[in-house]
Amino acid sequence: MRYLSTRGDEPDLGFNDVLLAGLANDGGLYVPERWPTLVTPSTARTYVERAVEVMLPFVEPDLDEATLTRLCTEAYGTFRHPAVVPLIQIDHRLWIQELFHGPTLAFKDVALQLVGRMFDHVLAERGQRVTIVGATSGDTGSAAIDAVAGCENVDIVIFYPLGRTSDVQRRQMTTVDQPNAHAVAVEGTFDDCQDLVKAMFNDVEFRRRNNLSAVNSINWARVMAQIVYYVTAAEVFSEAVTFSVPTGNFGNVLAGWIAREMGAPINDFVIASNTNDILTRFINDGDMSTRGVVPTLSPSMDIQVSSNFERLLFEMNGRDGGMTAEQLMQFRARGSLELEPDQREQFITGHFRAAAFDDAATLAEIARVRDETGMLLDPHSATGTAAARELCGGDQSTSPVVALATAHPAKFPDAVERATGCSVGLPDHLANLFDLEERTQTVVNDLGAVEALVEQLVSR
Ligand SMILES: *Cc1c(COP(=O)(O)O)cnc(C)c1O
Repeated sequence: MRYLSTRGDEPDLGFNDVLLAGLANDGGLYVPERWPTLVTPSTARTYVERAVEVMLPFVEPDLDEATLTRLCTEAYGTFRHPAVVPLIQIDHRLWIQELFHGPTLAFKDVALQLVGRMFDHVLAERGQRVTIVGATSGDTGSAAIDAVAGCENVDIVIFYPLGRTSDVQRRQMTTVDQPNAHAVAVEGTFDDCQDLVKAMFNDVEFRRRNNLSAVNSINWARVMAQIVYYVTAAEVFSEAVTFSVPTGNFGNVLAGWIAREMGAPINDFVIASNTNDILTRFINDGDMSTRGVVPTLSPSMDIQVSSNFERLLFEMNGRDGGMTAEQLMQFRARGSLELEPDQREQFITGHFRAAAFDDAATLAEIARVRDETGMLLDPHSATGTAAARELCGGDQSTSPVVALATAHPAKFPDAVERATGCSVGLPDHLANLFDLEERTQTVVNDLGAVEALVEQLVSR
């Protein structure tokens, strides 16, 4: 498989290069030259076996089947449920797929546990070493650190905003006792952290000297790993399903769209947002205009722009990179994106529905699910079930709906307690999180200071 940039100005690459590059040099995102067709009927008996069938066409010839099988076996062996991503029924036509049984309790583990191992494998083969830098508002940082902690060929430095993550999220980053893993608090906001990381990448000298790399949600390999659970869930049902997806950067729901392109029996997608509802406005009213970010109970969905949307836009433009680059330039200049009527008709209507919920509605949904089923949902997952009920519920005769649960309720204990009065304990493997020693440092919001710290941390 070869990969193209969505902005059309880069030579095509194989999987391993795309994995390590993340973003293309023309500013675009990598996409495969074609969507392969799913192997059916599948002979797979386990999640790992189906994962290998689904992903092999994307990684060959760079990775062979035996290597992919080994990496998937190790990655999904860290999940604390034999089904890896189990389905639970909560209403007549509504199921929840629990994506949070990985080591850090968020669905980011599904992709990052595999991507971390792929990085280490490819770097070892090439005799290279990289420094992964990233900014986090919470979930991504802990999942990325856990995925590469102890890897031979990777150093990782994650920046988080001082005092603005939950205690659980911070401790998941700062208590990892591996010499290659570093969590650094920045005296600033999440946006400051992101700007610092961008500035480090733009400092070409610094970037070269430290072999900077990233594992953020625009990395193709992360999207690829997420295709698998859409396939395995859809295949359980005897009719085509609807997925309801709590959405931030559009990475998760894009993976579902690709699964359907590959032939998975999926009807359509419901996009769930919190108060930061750019995608809901876009789907419902054609209005993709940016507004300031409002903090909510579901921080991993507090975004202004959904960066992975660019991959769908590329498809809408008939895979014309020049046209895509042009549309994105206008989006940046005007703060709003306009689609052609036929683009909407072909790609949005009948494929995506959307609903947004503020914090009060999110808490009400957590309380309702707990009353009806006894199950506790985290605030991200609750937007997904709320959207499923609003758009697919009642007497509307629709497909079975699978709402994706993206975080374990114990990751957001305060919201769960506010909604239900229940306190949620951490699962056994994290029960001692509050007894472990934290290893962290604080840095001022200044590029020079941050770069000096990175060099000091990685030059062990
Ligand atoms: C990252 C994240 C999301 C949003 O996923 P996207 O791929 O950015 O759409 C939703 N819920 C949780 C808990 C997350 O960590």
